Amino acid sequence: MKAQYYEPAYDLYYQYDNYRDSSFTGRRFSYHTVAKSVTKYHNAAVDTLGTSIDGKNIYGIKLGSGPLKVFMWSQMHGDEPTATMALFDLLNFLTANDNMNETRSHILNSITLFIIPLLNPDGMEKYKRRSAVDIDINRDALRLVNPESQILMNNFKAFAPDVSFNLHDQLPRYTVGITHRSALLALLAPAFNYEKELSPNRTRAMQVCAHISNVLSAYIPGHIARYTDEFEPRAFGDNLQKLGSSTVLIESGGWKNDPEKQYIRKMNFLAYVSALSALADDRISKIPLNYYDQIPYNEKYLYDVLLRELTITRNDKDYLIDVGINLNEIPAAGHTGFRVASTVEDAGDLSTFYGNRDHILTGYRIEPGKVYPKTFESIDQLGNIDFDSLYGKGYIYVMANDAGSFGRQNDYPIIVTVPDFDKKERKNYLTIGNAANFIITKDGKTRFVVINGFLYDTELKAGYIKNGLIIR
Ligand SMILES: [Zn+2]
Repeated sequence: MKAQYYEPAYDLYYQYDNYRDSSFTGRRFSYHTVAKSVTKYHNAAVDTLGTSIDGKNIYGIKLGSGPLKVFMWSQMHGDEPTATMALFDLLNFLTANDNMNETRSHILNSITLFIIPLLNPDGMEKYKRRSAVDIDINRDALRLVNPESQILMNNFKAFAPDVSFNLHDQLPRYTVGITHRSALLALLAPAFNYEKELSPNRTRAMQVCAHISNVLSAYIPGHIARYTDEFEPRAFGDNLQKLGSSTVLIESGGWKNDPEKQYIRKMNFLAYVSALSALADDRISKIPLNYYDQIPYNEKYLYDVLLRELTITRNDKDYLIDVGINLNEIPAAGHTGFRVASTVEDAGDLSTFYGNRDHILTGYRIEPGKVYPKTFESIDQLGNIDFDSLYGKGYIYVMANDAGSFGRQNDYPIIVTVPDFDKKERKNYLTIGNAANFIITKDGKTRFVVINGFLYDTELKAGYIKNGLIIR
């Protein structure tokens, strides 16, 4: 057996691709892909634990024979898939046969592992958070209305795990404390009462969090946060902590240029193997608790787009203004992709915030965009438009007699509206909570257009507008 204190994550970082389940390539995968991956582990016991509201099987996988019982489940929120992918990578690792055999047999001889890789298949198929009857499973730990909640609670009680991992995703724009650094992971040992008291099992959960933070800081320094520990009596983590299992919450957040969360998935995989290995040789119990307390809290100091130091004019007077915009994902039909609906989140002095796309626009003016004078018959005719020539003249709206469904997105990089388009929209072009549609000028010339939150440089003809909107 390898000596205690051997840290497998440092080697697995370089060998990860050997275990990466290649049937998962991005955040949106099918139930079929999960069901197929579940069946391929021949030295693990696969069980159907029950079915979801819409009748899909929920699988449990058991492996290992050790005295310490560890329970892991993912995707109780259907649109939080990162850990599901990483759990299949973990299963591939634990059932492989290679130079890491000592580590895996050390884990499997010390731990009995029970994994539910996908708790909410109905939500997953629609890429939505809640169950098929729109109940949040993570607020259903007391009532247990959803069959998914019952499956989780019943299996928890039957298995009686020493340690539990409750695996989620959070929005990618959370930061680590008051910094510009995204929280790639947010960790938490949930409280089991309003007083946030400590108990031996909660203490161990804190030590697991601290261990993960210490090890992964080699790769993502400053990108690990601590999730807020307010007690939520209806949530699973809080209740399972209360029932005596050391419960660890891992939230997968954001990482620059990783929209499909594949690097975040790798960091999850390393976290799981590292935590299991440290639990197996009892390294966890030696970690000082202040390591946990030193992890900064999850904060919200990031916008998807931050436009700094613009000038806005009202009644011939100029005002300095920053604009913070978020690009919200709207699942597309068939749930295989997504469109974007932007919102202006805030305006004013945002100098304490950061943008994933951060633009300093000192000396530029923010103004309402113009409406292209020609009316089109329908949206289908927009395919022939030379959008660059429109942007250069400040046109960001086109009118169509048949403009489609209002409040929706259109696939063209332009805002579609109706011929009797209300000029109010242009007058209120900068309104908190509305979409971000305006132009940015210098010396009377349109230098940038902002269409549905996406900034496009009309001079360099550079930028990417994923989709437009349909408004009235
Ligand atoms: Zn969640």
